[in-house]
Amino acid sequence: MSLEELYQEIIMDHYRRPRNFGRLDGGGQAVEHENPNCGDHLELFVRLEDGVIGDIRFQGRGCAISTASASLMTEAVKGKKVEDARTAMEAFLGMLRGERGTDGLGDLAALAGVRQFPLRVKCAALAWHALGELLGDGRRAGP
Ligand code: ZN
Repeated sequence: MSLEELYQEIIMDHYRRPRNFGRLDGGGQAVEHENPNCGDHLELFVRLEDGVIGDIRFQGRGCAISTASASLMTEAVKGKKVEDARTAMEAFLGMLRGERGTDGLGDLAALAGVRQFPLRVKCAALAWHALGELLGDGRRAGP
């Protein structure tokens, strides 16, 4: 199997069986982000516990790239310290911008191929921009 095929398989696996999919009830923060170019819509939920991402989930509808990216993102940052999640976010977005390679990105490297398609970059970045907002000053979920 070529690296390209492996990456394709990771993306399709996360698209068909997204990890950490659904709402997060019982406290936490939530944001909604959209990518109108593609029609992707994403709600992201995060619960922080002592500076650690205790739980993270997402729901919404989107293309394979946006869904797989959100699923991979939740796996990459769940249980991580906020500062480490920010570092992962900068590494991933930097890779999408072509400013750095895929070193240390693990399965997230599967999305490296989208760099060749500027419209798809927005699909892959959507969940990470939502995460960035939540780790910044996201609004409280619920009433
Ligand atoms: Zn999309």
